[in-house]
Amino acid sequence: MAVAADGSLKLVHRPLRDPEAGQVRLRVEACGICHTDGLAVHEHPESEPGMVPGHEVVGVIDALGEGVAGWQIGDRVGVGFLGGHCGACDPCRRGDFVRCTDQSLTGVTVDGGYAEVMIARASGLVAIPESLASDVAAPLLCAGITTYNAIIKADVVPGATVAIQGIGGLGHLGVQYAHQMGMRTIAIARGTEKAEFARELGADHYVDAQDPAAAVAELNALGGADLIVATAASGASSSALIAGIAANGTLMVVGASSDPVSVSTSDLVMRGIRVRGSLTGSPIENEDNLAFAARHGVRPMIETATLEDAAPAYERMSSGAARFRMVLVP
Ligand SMILES: [Zn+2]
Ligand SMILES: [Zn+2]
Repeated sequence: MAVAADGSLKLVHRPLRDPEAGQVRLRVEACGICHTDGLAVHEHPESEPGMVPGHEVVGVIDALGEGVAGWQIGDRVGVGFLGGHCGACDPCRRGDFVRCTDQSLTGVTVDGGYAEVMIARASGLVAIPESLASDVAAPLLCAGITTYNAIIKADVVPGATVAIQGIGGLGHLGVQYAHQMGMRTIAIARGTEKAEFARELGADHYVDAQDPAAAVAELNALGGADLIVATAASGASSSALIAGIAANGTLMVVGASSDPVSVSTSDLVMRGIRVRGSLTGSPIENEDNLAFAARHGVRPMIETATLEDAAPAYERMSSGAARFRMVLVP
């Protein structure tokens, strides 16, 4: 399913091709739909057919390009947003594969997983544990690693107070990860409808963010958050919660938007607040994430759709109607 000139998703047929050196070919078993797919869907192509979106891909390797080591035909593997690092650029030479300057973005700069077959760079592959079904593993490759790594990279220890802002596709996983990592877990969302659900996911407390001042007061009554993971792509809504972060605590932003985060200089200087961002993770970190999810029962709530129904499924995700991740199954 490729993006047409009018921004719709259109069924196209392409000849099967062999993987080039350093690449593998996958038979796709499942591909999750992510908000970031909008980078392809809303970028109308100059010529049809445009890009094939999709970066929460699980498939089985059916062909190996020249020089691919460590992977076999028949291996079930995943591909996330970062399509594989080059190994030669300065960030790669420092071991920072996420910042590789020669990395394709799956489904944005190279064809992704809204397809029966996909070509992927071997350096971006993630081994899928036996115990995770393909449709369940798919959202963990982007929504999962995003929230998992946001907690891991924030230097919080078990028992710390971790708040997850936004209980949607990312947040419903973030609450489970925080709880299963042994954190005192606070779910933050607007209104009270999600309070019961958040507790079922493992939240110890629920904070209604409808009134930001009241939400900050509630966070401070709980001692302040050592970490807030902001999953909503809104600088304004996460800025409003900074006053509810404990001294030396962190605001970790994982939803990107053009809307700036504002933080007072006294929060930075006097209270030692850190404001950071986190972008998914490297393939081996994604394997850590999948192993953790498999062992501790962290699971995305998914709705599946056929590949041909990619357009209505995408619509269902972007309108917020899906609970919580849509997964295409060819
Ligand atoms: Zn994504
Ligand atoms: Zn590189």
